[in-house]
Amino acid sequence: MIEADPPVTDGGAKQEQAVTIPVDDRPIRIEKPETVAVVKVEDYTPAAVKQGLQRLLELLDPTFMKQSLEGKTVFLKVNGLTVKPLACTNNIVVEELGKLLRDNGCKKVLVGDSNFNKALTSITLKGMGIAAVAERLGNPVVNFFEHGWTPVSHVSFLADSFVSIPEPVAKADIVINLPKMKTHAGYVFTGAIKNFFGLNAHKNRMHAIHKNKVDFQQMLGDIHQAALASAPGSETKPVLHVMDGIVGMEGKKGPAGGTARAFKVLIGSFSPVAVDTVAYTLMGGDPADLEAIQSLGKRNGWPSTIDQLRVVGDDWKPLVQRASLPPLSTLRSGEQGEASAGGFMMWATQVVIRVNRRRCKGCLTCVKHCPAQALSKKGNKIVLDSSKCISCFACGESCPNDALVPRIRLTELLERILFVSLIVAAIVIVIVLLATLPYT
Ligand code: SF4
Ligand code: SF4
Repeated sequence: MIEADPPVTDGGAKQEQAVTIPVDDRPIRIEKPETVAVVKVEDYTPAAVKQGLQRLLELLDPTFMKQSLEGKTVFLKVNGLTVKPLACTNNIVVEELGKLLRDNGCKKVLVGDSNFNKALTSITLKGMGIAAVAERLGNPVVNFFEHGWTPVSHVSFLADSFVSIPEPVAKADIVINLPKMKTHAGYVFTGAIKNFFGLNAHKNRMHAIHKNKVDFQQMLGDIHQAALASAPGSETKPVLHVMDGIVGMEGKKGPAGGTARAFKVLIGSFSPVAVDTVAYTLMGGDPADLEAIQSLGKRNGWPSTIDQLRVVGDDWKPLVQRASLPPLSTLRSGEQGEASAGGFMMWATQVVIRVNRRRCKGCLTCVKHCPAQALSKKGNKIVLDSSKCISCFACGESCPNDALVPRIRLTELLERILFVSLIVAAIVIVIVLLATLPYT
């Protein structure tokens, strides 16, 4: 038996009760962790999305729709990051999946998420139309901050003795994770594994505790273990992952301010590791570079390279694109970077956050949500204390004006050198011209 931490307030979350909970040592077993389905879908027309989802589920498990859903409560965990359509799971994907589940006997379809706090989550879920989709599927949208949190304890956790996940998710019979295929300025890529960060009650605290990026990515695995271990009885909860990559996001300003990229795919698996491995490969990256994928795969013995996976459905090779990805050096920024800073190049290639003063409206959202208190207002300006920054990019995720920009130090340095050189050159030219002008 272990003692849970005392209750902590974070972003308006309902407080947990301090409880004594037994450590759960049931095995974590998921269906076919080596199987991943890739289905090409051209666009978000409802008929195309419905057909794609039906095909994806058939490919993954032909019995899923026929046998597993009768009388069950299914929770659809969307990506509801901010009021920007590109940053969130597309509503048509959520609605068509919900309708399919209901048509196949599902008793209740719940839809929900949480981002920074209760108010912002509510604004996002309403503003994005996710709340309306949930209503049409028969239930009010679930803002996790308006519900209790269930502590789950399992021997497979690495970082904490327990993880709290939202009560409605813990109580659901089946969970379907609906991540968006996107880049992330702080972690390079965000997909099925990172999308479960929204299931965690203490986002700021988790960022602050796990400043080291390796630790943070491993901690994300704990949230997945908690969701799987939250089934009552001796079973592992069925958790399915369906990624919306029909139009995803690329560029250094993901996951909120990147640019659209049509990957034209839905990717599904019972393994989040398989989904992210395929997605990152299709974006032109190497999944071996991402600790979140590798550590969760290793922990459970789930395949985490494209060669180890059984990819069913459409041929994935022609779907590979060379998306614009944030530099891998971003994974060395923050405490991890400081710890590994072995020389100038290591320092110079780290990613740092800069405020675009023309875009900034001074709303202070970023200041409130920085887990490291690295941002503050000085006069009319938002300023960064880079010695405190852990490069998590929570500020960029929360900024409504895309005013926070990740920059590579070396690029900045070179730009400044170039700028100063141009000014010096201009001054020299003017002096030479003045000196050579004939006196009149
Ligand atoms: S300034 Fe931004 S990137 Fe740095 S710690 Fe704060 S929220 Fe994270
Ligand atoms: S959230 Fe964005 S607009 Fe608001 S103060 Fe921060 S940088 Fe400026």
